[in-house]
Amino acid sequence: MDKKQLKEKVCQVIDKNKEKIIRLGESIYNHPELGYKEVYATNFISEELEKLGLTVEKNIAVTGCRARLNAENEGPRVAVLGEMDAVICKEHIDADPETGAVHACGHNIQVASMFGVAVGLTLSGALEKLGGKVDFLAVPAEEYVELEYRSKLKEKGKIKYFGGKQELIYRGYFDDVDIAMMMHVLNLGDKKVLIGGKGNGFVGKNVQFIGKESHAGGAPEKGINALNAAMLAINNIHAQRETFPESERIRVHPIMTKGGDIVNVIPADVRMEMYVRGRTIQGILDANKKVNRSLKAGAMAIGAKVKINEIPGYLPLLNHDELDNIFKLNILDFVKKEEIIEDGDFTGSFDFGDVSHLMPSLHPFIGGIKGELHTRNFKNEDHELCYIVPAKSMAMTIIDLLWDEGKVAKKMIKDFTPKMTKEEYVGFLEKISGVITE
Ligand SMILES: [Zn+2]
Repeated sequence: MDKKQLKEKVCQVIDKNKEKIIRLGESIYNHPELGYKEVYATNFISEELEKLGLTVEKNIAVTGCRARLNAENEGPRVAVLGEMDAVICKEHIDADPETGAVHACGHNIQVASMFGVAVGLTLSGALEKLGGKVDFLAVPAEEYVELEYRSKLKEKGKIKYFGGKQELIYRGYFDDVDIAMMMHVLNLGDKKVLIGGKGNGFVGKNVQFIGKESHAGGAPEKGINALNAAMLAINNIHAQRETFPESERIRVHPIMTKGGDIVNVIPADVRMEMYVRGRTIQGILDANKKVNRSLKAGAMAIGAKVKINEIPGYLPLLNHDELDNIFKLNILDFVKKEEIIEDGDFTGSFDFGDVSHLMPSLHPFIGGIKGELHTRNFKNEDHELCYIVPAKSMAMTIIDLLWDEGKVAKKMIKDFTPKMTKEEYVGFLEKISGVITE
């Protein structure tokens, strides 16, 4: 059997199991869970991977699971990832009435296409003909939300980092992985694929303004209004915006999670969450300094205190040209050349960016959905394109990488200089963590 025939066989197996793959994605869609709470998804995916004869390690980072294919083989290891978590969008028709959670970022589609790769490579016996091994990782908590909940998990020692991939890198799940890949859906209009996209990184922060309560009608002069401090701080941040370099695509977007306790008391405890996003690590750190100055100045003007809890966010998403090209040649079996966009530029962030600093990483965007990510309009419209095409294309990419004793993968790994080692990465996360009080 030559390489082309092997690819055909894997695609036939994926086609034969199409219903099963789509059912997995739809079932997770119908049970949306937020990050580090993906219990249903973890159990369901684990069961399905076990049915393929794989041994599954469950709850690898609170939730999530890993199955390893041909773990004892010699040769390079490729990891295929799928995220499991939903977002909150209460306005969406399919949102969970209690939690507001809904899969409006299509992560259910990612795990289903990861499962599709597992189906294709396992049931076809393809790995026997390849020189290497494959890990399948259902990863938790890509969306960086519910910072209070995650702070509590951190206090209890259940996690060290808010992002699922940060946590898994820290726990060593990428230590022996050489190349990583995953897909993400996106509304691409009349196009079907976007390859080579880059994205912003960010730092996150919890901010508390601490003032002094007093009777809002009777004695406001005796209080220190933490809400006024916070409002000044937000305006200070706005005043910085013209200083952010265009190339950095800086985004600062605070929300207020607590504006006071009761209306007739001067607010003494006001809380905010925010991200500072940018295209490079240095750009993010520079903008972050200005944001912190703005927060402190707001507090200073009012005579309040401010406590800034700095939490590592995600690193910018980097692409790998050669991997992109291999994937592109494979997906051209299913889409036309004119339907592929090359080189996208995103100001959103992905925790796969962290992985991309450590190893060659593939993160294509696939169409087939309508509406925008994280909004009420998000809708999966084309199951074949969302679920099946990326599963086949990733499986074929793995065949290219690991064919002939893993020749292509071995050369790719040899030629790759990571932006950071794991130690440097964890050191960086530590360096930017901490509490500033002023
Ligand atoms: Zn997403």
